[in-house]
Amino acid sequence: MRPHLCQFFILSIIILSACGEEKSITLPTAMQLEQAHERYKEPGFDKRRFVQKDMLPVLQKHADAFKFEILGNSVEGREIYQVNIGEGPVKVLLWSQMHGDESTATMALFDIFNFLKAEDSAFNEMRTLLKEQLSMKFIPMVNPDGAERFIRRNALGIDLNRDALRTASIEAKILKNAQTDFSPHFGFNLHDQSRYYNTQGNRHPATISVLAPAYNEEREINEVRLNAMKVIAGMNKLLQQIVPQHVGKYNDAFEPRAFGDNFQKWGTSTILIESGGFPEDPEKQYIRKLNFIAILGALSEIASGQYEKYSQDEYFSIPDNESRLFDLLIKNVKVESGDYTYTTDIGVRRNENNLGREHYVTGVVSDWGDLSTFFGYVELDAEGLSLSEGKLYEKRVDHEKLSISEAMELLKQGYMWVNATNKRKGELHHLPLMVVTPEESVDSEVNMGGKANFFLKKEGQLRYAVVNGYLVDLMEENPDILLQNRF
Ligand SMILES: [Zn+2]
Repeated sequence: MRPHLCQFFILSIIILSACGEEKSITLPTAMQLEQAHERYKEPGFDKRRFVQKDMLPVLQKHADAFKFEILGNSVEGREIYQVNIGEGPVKVLLWSQMHGDESTATMALFDIFNFLKAEDSAFNEMRTLLKEQLSMKFIPMVNPDGAERFIRRNALGIDLNRDALRTASIEAKILKNAQTDFSPHFGFNLHDQSRYYNTQGNRHPATISVLAPAYNEEREINEVRLNAMKVIAGMNKLLQQIVPQHVGKYNDAFEPRAFGDNFQKWGTSTILIESGGFPEDPEKQYIRKLNFIAILGALSEIASGQYEKYSQDEYFSIPDNESRLFDLLIKNVKVESGDYTYTTDIGVRRNENNLGREHYVTGVVSDWGDLSTFFGYVELDAEGLSLSEGKLYEKRVDHEKLSISEAMELLKQGYMWVNATNKRKGELHHLPLMVVTPEESVDSEVNMGGKANFFLKKEGQLRYAVVNGYLVDLMEENPDILLQNRF
């Protein structure tokens, strides 16, 4: 049997008062943690796509300061590391990237290592509190084989988060053993979610979503789950200071095979954090900062016992996730189809494709019709504008010699596609044009489910282009967006 949690907090208050503390520690604000992040952000990561080989030298930097354990090896033999920090009575396990393409929190955990290792007067009191009250174990990349390919599943094609019961995959077994061996009081289950989630009823992306997973079908609330809810309520309060309305609550339907649900069932108060999207943050570096703030804030609440003051009502008042976002939402555009003219909204999403450490996108028309209940990261009211197809520039072009302004010139003349003389396929380019080889067929028709390449005309003049799902204002010299197109 584990001692009751309250005993630890009674103990911690005694310790604090024995040290001459009059009252409990004042926890840092979100703004203070935001500044700390600027200082302690790990420079070894600046993009979402990295592999274990990139992570190991960064991990090595902490070998003197923190104790490492190798919990085991992945299917393809990559080590799964655990970093142990702190000697306190309250045990916390944090694990990230059990889905190989969900790396935002992994970056944040390394920022937290830098923070915990450092010494500065502004945060020393907090560091001492964390290290004296908590025993923290971090597993920063549960699925290194998936990370190698930047895919969700492991090398056997198994989704680790549906393998908590069967543990057919070695990585799931390792995570389960980590829980059994340590019996943590608190667990942080760190993931990324679709950037198309908004917070219910408003246009803001659910940049961070949270959940105290259910431990049974009835979604009952016992003390274990309630403590997770309280920690989340505190975390939400902190995040609202800097990203109001950007925090959503993930669906709490019981998933009997998932880790979060089972950790909760096994007696660990489990907090799910899902990193979603934020405007103009394709590499999720701002969202990484929010993870740093949320996790450190939550750890401080746990270490000080201050999470106890929150209620389940505060948790339930967090708006639910909703999936009503597009990358680009064009409203009220006129479409002529034969003799028929009608008005439609066009919802565009840009699907991501891996390209080594980079990615390129494929812009598609993902919905069409009345989208008045949806939102866009970028929205355009196209009242008075009509849809128009692009043309192929037949003459061969060496696209590598094409400047952005020359490409813009072609676009302004109605050319959406250019034929390239250079036939190397698969490279990334940032031109506001679709570059194709002469062998490729060009489909200029615009419709639901098709590619998002078209123009918007006003009184017969081209006004905007949508190139591979990106909105380009044709009145501008250089579009102020980084287009991730692929030749
Ligand atoms: Zn996930």
